[in-house]
Amino acid sequence: MRPSSLNSLFAPISSLPGVGPRLSKLFSNLLGADDELGEPLVVDLLWHLPSGLVDRRQRPTISEAVPGTVATLRVTVDRHRPSPPGRSRAPYRVQCHDETGDLTLVFFHSNAQWLEKTLPVGEVRWVSGQIEEFGGALQIVHPDHIVDEDDFAKLPLLEPIYPRTAGLSGKVIAKAATAAVEAVPDLPEWQDAAWLKRRTFPGFKAALAHVHHPQEPSEAAEESQNWQRLAYDELLAGQLALTIVRSRMKKAGGKARVGDGHIQTKIIDALPFSLTGSQAEAVKDILADLAAPTRMLRLLQGDVGSGKTVVGLLAISVVAESGSQSAFMAPTELLARQHFRTIAPLAEAAGLTAAILTGRETAKERKPILAGLAEGSIDILVGTHALFQSEVDFADLGLAVVDEQHRFGVHQRLALAAKGEAVDMLVMTATPIPRTLLLTHYGDMDVTKLTEKPAGRKPVSTAVVSLDRLSDVVTRVQRAVDTGAQVYWVCPLVDESDVLDVASAEERFAALKPVFGDRVALIHGRMSGAEKDAVMRRFIDGAVRVLVATTVIEVGVDVPDASVMIIEHAERFGLAQLHQLRGRVGRGRAESSCLLLYKGPLGETSRARLEIMRETEDGFRIAEEDLRLRGGGEVLGTRQSGMPEFRVVRTGVHLDMLEAARDDARLALERDPALTGARGEALRTLLYLFRKDAAMRLIEAG
Ligand code: ADP
Ligand code: MG
Repeated sequence: MRPSSLNSLFAPISSLPGVGPRLSKLFSNLLGADDELGEPLVVDLLWHLPSGLVDRRQRPTISEAVPGTVATLRVTVDRHRPSPPGRSRAPYRVQCHDETGDLTLVFFHSNAQWLEKTLPVGEVRWVSGQIEEFGGALQIVHPDHIVDEDDFAKLPLLEPIYPRTAGLSGKVIAKAATAAVEAVPDLPEWQDAAWLKRRTFPGFKAALAHVHHPQEPSEAAEESQNWQRLAYDELLAGQLALTIVRSRMKKAGGKARVGDGHIQTKIIDALPFSLTGSQAEAVKDILADLAAPTRMLRLLQGDVGSGKTVVGLLAISVVAESGSQSAFMAPTELLARQHFRTIAPLAEAAGLTAAILTGRETAKERKPILAGLAEGSIDILVGTHALFQSEVDFADLGLAVVDEQHRFGVHQRLALAAKGEAVDMLVMTATPIPRTLLLTHYGDMDVTKLTEKPAGRKPVSTAVVSLDRLSDVVTRVQRAVDTGAQVYWVCPLVDESDVLDVASAEERFAALKPVFGDRVALIHGRMSGAEKDAVMRRFIDGAVRVLVATTVIEVGVDVPDASVMIIEHAERFGLAQLHQLRGRVGRGRAESSCLLLYKGPLGETSRARLEIMRETEDGFRIAEEDLRLRGGGEVLGTRQSGMPEFRVVRTGVHLDMLEAARDDARLALERDPALTGARGEALRTLLYLFRKDAAMRLIEAG
């Protein structure tokens, strides 16, 4: 059981003063909702660390304010320019100046009355927010603070800047974060005393308080002792959890699964190609694992298009030969269906029965599937999360193949493992993960890499083009389509974007529609499964030539004829994600190309990122560069990129402590495997704080 001392931190975020249902919903967009409570927990906010700091001890003039930074400016209000009548989506602008220049304050969906009251013409106001340059002029969109001289004196001189989501101001986040830190009770120290002393790390609560609420800018820096301490806490929690999971999974024992090869042979014969050397090697590793009496926990790492699906299917065939069932799990319905389309005919050719379960099927459709699983007449179940549901009962589940692992956690791996006795696990990921991160996030698994690409893959030529040249790009796409090409046009997410000028997929679709007519279609994550399916079908069939998409197409989608990939606002994506997206083309016979459209001016890191994309297609190299370039600044899409994530650790800054954390974790568990001693108890608290629930459950089960 979780110690009751942690109750205040595991309470819903709405338990914090000033956070009601409306804010709690916005916080869910920012932090994700807890499965049970349906909103984030207080502890989730503790780990939402500032990405910077407003220093109000500096008071720049408008001419000194630097675009891209947060600044606090003293301005005089000149005039209001409300949205034109009937165009409520156009912004409301307020013109201001100081003795050095002009500044526009921009508001969307604003309340005119409130603005007139808050920003009276002719008066002096202090405004604070992110300075942007727009059409050669400076602006602040939705300032965090608008105060008069009196209230300015009450503003904190140092204020943390938090990564934000639409509708949630920095001020609100800061206030809630401060309350969250106050909710931290006195906790026993889980770090080794000698280590703390050697590193001169502060205590846990002090470290949190300084990072969220610094008195000096240096106190909240990623390099500070405060942040380092918290990063080490996270690394240690992660290493403990992995060590626990691995030892329990192994201890629980496995089953030796040996086949006679008759199904495997039929599948190989039914394939329209021969296996690559890498695939054959991977199958060999897996068969050895399956044949061993211990449980398989293997990660199959292979770049996009390296042919992981077939490897998974061959593992399944051996398990079928040994008389057991398999589950093949994908992170989205779209992918589950795609896998099913690949697997079902091959399975049939080999005399196996496959079914699909995604949560979309009606009760009537599910019934025979559930019955078939329970009695063992279905050999392969392909599906999504729906596979976890308690009503899904296997007669004898022997193997779980989990595709695109990063969407699932250790948590789900365990839930699936619990669906059978000694279930073997094969996890597949298309993200080439750098060595260090493998250790931090997959330290519990054995790893096989697919390094070879299937024969016939062509290089993709990549160009980096400014969005200013959009009309040229459209002309070029038109020409490509006329000569038979199929095109992906990827836009950043519709809903999660904070920045209002992101071209949404919907807008892009509307703009391309007059050019391409019925040959352009739109797909995004907010469409129903059936709608997405229908669009995908039309793209696969070739009726649709240009598919405008959000990143729903990112993972795994396979349309061999598509040969052009356009990524709009490429500067907003992480490298891993760009690589994944580009991997969607270059699979067929045609010459393929990728256009990375960016909106300038580019920062140094964005420029370097796009340059690497132009230089190489080697996923492992891209992954290493990604890790190197990823500092504190979150890149839109890293969350979807497939790269394992940390909450506190910044990979460019803190990973040198990883080995210490690993050794520390191993030693602690060697001395006290059940974590019952004094330090063990404290370490349990640490595991809870970083939400390593799955590991905790194992520890508690003994
Ligand atoms: P990923 O590793 O990205 O999941 P897939 O398993 O989807 O890759 O395979 C990508 C494509 O390559 C599929 O169309 C698949 O049929 C094909 N493929 C897989 N293995 C080979 C091979 N050895 N030779 C030729 N094509 C292959
Ligand atoms: Mg795949």
